[in-house]
Amino acid sequence: MDMKYKALELDLQDDGAELQEALLKLSGQKTVPNVYIKGTHIGGCDDTFAAKSNGKINHLLNIKSYDYDLIVIGGGSGGLAASKEAAVLGKKVAVCDYVKPTPKGTTWGLGGTCVNVGCIPKKLMHQAAILGESLQDSRHYGWETPESVQHSWSQLRDAVQAHVGSLNWGYKVALREKDVTYINGYTAFVDAHTIKTVNKKGKEQIYTAERFLIATGMRPRYPDIPGSIEYTITSDDLFSLPYNPGKTVCVGASYVSLECAGFLAGMGNDVTVMVRSILLRGFDQDMAEKIGSYMEKHHVNFIRKAVPTKIEMVKDGQPPTLRIHYKKTESGDESSIECNTILMAIGRDACTTDIGLDKAGVITNSKNGKIPTINEQTNVPHIYAVGDILQDGHELTPVAIEAGKLLARRLYNNSNRQCDYVNVPTTVFTPLEYGSCGLPEEDAVAKYGQENLEVYHTYFQPLEYTVSHREANACYAKIICDKSNNEKVVGFHVLGPNAGEITQGFAVAMKAGATKEHFDSTIGIHPTCGELFTTMKVTKSSGEDITPSGC
Ligand code: FAD
Ligand code: NDP
Repeated sequence: MDMKYKALELDLQDDGAELQEALLKLSGQKTVPNVYIKGTHIGGCDDTFAAKSNGKINHLLNIKSYDYDLIVIGGGSGGLAASKEAAVLGKKVAVCDYVKPTPKGTTWGLGGTCVNVGCIPKKLMHQAAILGESLQDSRHYGWETPESVQHSWSQLRDAVQAHVGSLNWGYKVALREKDVTYINGYTAFVDAHTIKTVNKKGKEQIYTAERFLIATGMRPRYPDIPGSIEYTITSDDLFSLPYNPGKTVCVGASYVSLECAGFLAGMGNDVTVMVRSILLRGFDQDMAEKIGSYMEKHHVNFIRKAVPTKIEMVKDGQPPTLRIHYKKTESGDESSIECNTILMAIGRDACTTDIGLDKAGVITNSKNGKIPTINEQTNVPHIYAVGDILQDGHELTPVAIEAGKLLARRLYNNSNRQCDYVNVPTTVFTPLEYGSCGLPEEDAVAKYGQENLEVYHTYFQPLEYTVSHREANACYAKIICDKSNNEKVVGFHVLGPNAGEITQGFAVAMKAGATKEHFDSTIGIHPTCGELFTTMKVTKSSGEDITPSGC
């Protein structure tokens, strides 16, 4: 700790034995080391480490001995937001961020999952697919585009990576401008106030802080089957893949798998989704199935109720030729498909296992490694957690950012505003986007009882789809209302183009406690898709026809 100290080596002192007897009388301890600070007895070796760890030594020395007020572990959505806010509020802050390369060797810069291998590259690739569809539509609008247009994976990848690179740079500059120290090293706790970082050259550094924020996020999981780690990729590799993925099998049926399958198919690849049970677990299943059937009609194959059992390399190359063996979960029938790329999207593991949480005394949920908190505070009072690793949180960027920012304000600006994890809107960027806020119908029924709910719904056809002769009953919207509370809207769901843009505004209304009457008395914007929420009349319980009619 860089403090001046005096050591009495009792075996080298003439009066060592007398001193030892005197110490015994004073402190009840005869053994050495026997540590005193400013006249206060600390104890032996273990006692001294404990006193360092629990802050007693710092207190006795009456010095601000920590290197930082706040050290943030993880420079992703949540970590960066919290660190910048704390620094703006005058605190000395460091952010430690390090990306462990994937089994394929892919790595990336500062900013975490969203910026590098999540929301940002995903949405840009989704846009590439949407543009492909728009090119088809454009002919109906008079554009004489050639029948055969080619898509260049390498051009898209380079453009996306260039944008991601500029964001990485922007984050570094923002940290520097706000005087946040950026430490590019893998970080683990040594004790409750100390961390060790190891940079890519293996150089170790020790830092201390008064408080810590854990925001280490999650990484993709691989199934425990032969060939999985050697031959498959995950979303961590996809967006910078050196070659066009070609014929692709996406394993898993949640957000990541369906979104990637959607844009890869939109770029003209032959894509199959392998579904273990249902699509989009946790989401409204009405909507999930409609997404599935739209994707099926738009060149995505589905193998339902199947799990992979083995992956083999047939021929190495860029792309390689692989074979994925799978088993049907109900019949047990086995089969296999040849393809170029296998994207594992079977879920993500919390990055909490090898960051020394045991040394800091932080408890995790033994089932999923996530960290239980109360208002983002862990069981160790000066250690906090935000983002994907939070038990009972939402694995979404804006949630991590909001929680991080509000936490910094509570810690350093006397704020008492908590992050509100209720009615968090989200969008699945499948070819037809699905926006939702509030409860899925299944959850609403479980919470309120079927008899207390009214569900209003309708198919709709965006005006833009008419001239281009797109199918009529693909887009769908529904709201779920609590009859026992003035028809308060408790679930909002929309499947259609730009669903994310539509949902964001309605999420504000739901936050304000909007009822069906509020929706009805709002004047729509014509001609848009969002306006249909101001005129919804047909209830699901009536069983009436919901196919769209004119304006
Ligand atoms: P992260 O952003 O993951 O940041 C954690 C950082 O900590 C990483 O940089 C990591 O390398 C680093 N780290 C981990 N361990 C250590 C350590 N021991 N030492 C130092 N550094 C460490 N969310 C949305 O809201 N919208 C979307 O459209 C969306 N799309 C997504 C698409 C994909 C393919 C994926 C995978 C996710 C998507 N998400 C989306 C989710 C979103 O990316 C995450 O919710 C968000 O990034 C979580 O932020 P975080 O701060 O918790 O962690
Ligand atoms: P999820 O944990 O949400 O889903 C995992 C999927 O893989 C499920 O369909 C699951 O099936 C399946 N699965 C699990 N194990 C196996 C196995 N051994 N074999 C075959 N299939 C298996 O993970 P994701 O990676 O898709 O998403 C993680 C989180 O990232 C999401 O919760 C979301 O919050 C966030 N995200 C947000 C996005 C957005 O906002 N647009 C986009 C992408 C991600 P089963 O249902 O049978 O368990």
